[in-house]
Amino acid sequence: MPEGPTVRKFNSLVRPFVNLLIVNVGGRTRQINPQDLKGQHFINSQVHGKNLYMAFGHDNKNSKNYDLCQHEEGQTQSQQAEGSLEKHCLLGDDPLEESSKVPKDLHTGEPTENDLCLRWLRFHFGLYGSVRANEYSRARKENKRGVWRDPSPRLILHFDSERFLVFYNCRMTWCSSPFSEPACDILCPEFDKERALRALSVPRPVCITLMDQRHFSGVGNIIKNEVLFLANVHPLSFGSHLPSESLQCILDHTIRFTCNWLNNKLQRKGLRYHIYMKECCDKGHKVVKESIGPTYGLKRLTWYCPECQPHVKSENAVPSKEDL
Ligand SMILES: [Zn+2]
Repeated sequence: MPEGPTVRKFNSLVRPFVNLLIVNVGGRTRQINPQDLKGQHFINSQVHGKNLYMAFGHDNKNSKNYDLCQHEEGQTQSQQAEGSLEKHCLLGDDPLEESSKVPKDLHTGEPTENDLCLRWLRFHFGLYGSVRANEYSRARKENKRGVWRDPSPRLILHFDSERFLVFYNCRMTWCSSPFSEPACDILCPEFDKERALRALSVPRPVCITLMDQRHFSGVGNIIKNEVLFLANVHPLSFGSHLPSESLQCILDHTIRFTCNWLNNKLQRKGLRYHIYMKECCDKGHKVVKESIGPTYGLKRLTWYCPECQPHVKSENAVPSKEDL
């Protein structure tokens, strides 16, 4: 699954196309109408957690004349202008993000006409999504019928000079502005470590808290597995039963691992896993693979070493005050 560092890498691929005119579109999707993008400019992009946001509109002063603001039928431009700031934007059906909405206070001061005419397309890359610039993804193996078939792009944006961006296996949703909460985005300088420690310390398995995008936006399954191994913490240990040093250790490794991964990606270097999808850990112990997740949420495969990551069980530990 594309995690925070990978989505930032995707952003580095799309950034060179900012301010360019979309001369044609392609791809197969029912999530949006790709034709809406033809004739628009790609204005801006942002990454928040595991989401890539791309803004489209006109990059000139003649925004009165273009029809982007008339996308929602039956509303005048001024009605939409009022609505775009008031309207909360649901971020799709990811169970971890159900409560994520665009806060009203993202906009400060009076919005310009151009701001009101920008529309943001949110991309979530699920388990296998990707972005490519000026190249298509090619089949790596035969399908079940023995046929070599290249992956089908969900969206293609063609620019001048035969340059293009291709998006695969992503969920796309229009929204009025990006959802941003830098205090919980692991790759943002504003990431609030104290708040993250408080989130980790609750009576809940740490492997579930780490994947909770409300607290660790950008962290995914690979980061979770690797970080808990590096911190010598069993994934099912409750945060409330771990010493504060262990929680701090998890946090430090999460930040370091994620930043290193991003740097590696930007330098086109690979990443060596310690435990993720491994048979044995670094010390040669047999690794356990289990499907773990919230009671009513998505279960994710979790790799851990029972030797290096001893389970701190609640019955063996003194309950914290919060648990009593
Ligand atoms: Zn081990």
